[in-house]
Amino acid sequence: MKEKIHKCLNCGIGNTKIKDVQKILSMNSDTVLINIKAEVCDHCGERYYDPETVRYFEKIKLELKNGNSSQLIPVGTSYKVAS
Ligand SMILES: [Zn+2]
Repeated sequence: MKEKIHKCLNCGIGNTKIKDVQKILSMNSDTVLINIKAEVCDHCGERYYDPETVRYFEKIKLELKNGNSSQLIPVGTSYKVAS
């Protein structure tokens, strides 16, 4: 991912900067944490992913959906509060 500065499209005030972010993808009751680089607005925090990254997310989602998760490592259990 190349370093590039853009005006934020969301707030129109901030500039975007490449940062390490954590993205959470969810599929049914499963979630995948992905550490990835994104352009983040220094004003409103809006994130922008490049097309390559978006394709990568889609690929991971598909693998999760198909149960084909050879490169996915379980890291814990997700809970919800019983109602
Ligand atoms: Zn912004």
